[in-house]
Amino acid sequence: MSSPISPPDDALIPAVKALRAAQPTLGASKLNALLLKEHPAWTVSEKRLKKILQSEGLTLTSGAPPTNGKSNKPVTSTQSKYPASKLNPHLDIPAFTDKVEAVFISEQKGKGLVAKAHISQGEILWREDPFVHAPEWEIYDMQQTGAACQQCALPFLPTLPTLAVACPAMNHGCNAMFCSRLCLNRAQQAGHALLCRGRNPPSKDLLDFARKEPWRAVLALVMAVAKIMTAWERSESEGREMLDIWGTFATLDQETRSKTLPEWEFIQERHRALWNMAYDHFITALHPPESDKAGQARIRKLVKRPMPEDMRQELFSYNGFLQGLGRVSLNLDSHGGLFLLHSHMNHDCAPNMAVKQIAGGQAQQYPSSRIALVANKAIEPGEELTVTYVNPEWPYRRRKQALKDWGVECNCERCEKEKYEEPEPEPEKTIVEDGNGNDLERELRMSFGF
Ligand SMILES: [Zn+2]
Ligand SMILES: [Zn+2]
Ligand SMILES: [Zn+2]
Repeated sequence: MSSPISPPDDALIPAVKALRAAQPTLGASKLNALLLKEHPAWTVSEKRLKKILQSEGLTLTSGAPPTNGKSNKPVTSTQSKYPASKLNPHLDIPAFTDKVEAVFISEQKGKGLVAKAHISQGEILWREDPFVHAPEWEIYDMQQTGAACQQCALPFLPTLPTLAVACPAMNHGCNAMFCSRLCLNRAQQAGHALLCRGRNPPSKDLLDFARKEPWRAVLALVMAVAKIMTAWERSESEGREMLDIWGTFATLDQETRSKTLPEWEFIQERHRALWNMAYDHFITALHPPESDKAGQARIRKLVKRPMPEDMRQELFSYNGFLQGLGRVSLNLDSHGGLFLLHSHMNHDCAPNMAVKQIAGGQAQQYPSSRIALVANKAIEPGEELTVTYVNPEWPYRRRKQALKDWGVECNCERCEKEKYEEPEPEPEKTIVEDGNGNDLERELRMSFGF
């Protein structure tokens, strides 16, 4: 008889989910006994099972568990002030680097990355392309006129590359250009048709709204939703997988996030009006209501496969929309990329990792939306990999205030030290540095992914 095997996560997690769905009230040790009874060839420690229950939001203490085993909604208790995050069973980390692993760190921090081997200072650990990329507006504007690649954001300077191709819907009003057929294919896989002015004209109003505000989180959100819809059209399993991946980005919904603002009381009306406007455009463009027969027919041409109710709720309900906005705002990097592995890293004010943007200019072979993750210092096995979410040159209180937007209460060594060195400021000066209302407004908007 062969000895018991330790199942890989992608076999174990679905089995645990199914079991939890059937046994919503069993404790971890009984659940483990049952699991091993069902899978006699496996060996799984209770500790590992507990880790999975925790990372998948299936513990008894975490509120209502997703008991149907299908809906992989992140466990976002709206009361929680910490972002909810979970490990992504579809993410093949060794394909990026074999020196790190993802672990669930704590309720406060969620998941994180930990070194598995010695990492030297200056080492490039991995390079990563974004899940979606909402480029800087300057580049976005170039994309609108065909002066930069719609897919990888590479500017066509000084001239159009010889392999460049136009969107097939060029004659129907789409100006998108692509570096090559490869970028065109990738864009089509990622849902360009849904955001193409030629094939889905109302998407123009949605994108123009995002541009006018200007509000990059809306841009990134609609790109993510178009990507999931297009994966669903390819196959049910691809669609589910993409939705799962989307659900594993740390999430704090827009409303919960907003309420942490000291000024919320005074600006909430305006913000809510903006959310409503964005939502109207979003629905008109991507999920027209029953009353809009022409709109529904237009979308059905692009996504024929009917979408189940749970998926529609998650993507198109108003709550799903706000949650998506909050998720995007929380994870969007400063250049507008939403990165699967990079987004696992937690904040530290003296981080051991740095993100290097690979410049578009020198990038004949690299797309400019690609990033490289570089070690700032030597990192030993077991140490957590960290990046900074805010400008590390800011003093303690300013960092602390800015980090609230990420649901982060930093207790790093540097904060512990600087906390006592900085005098307590006047309360109203914690954000309004120069007393200029416009600057305050601008800062608040920036912090919400505008
Ligand atoms: Zn390209
Ligand atoms: Zn197009
Ligand atoms: Zn800190």
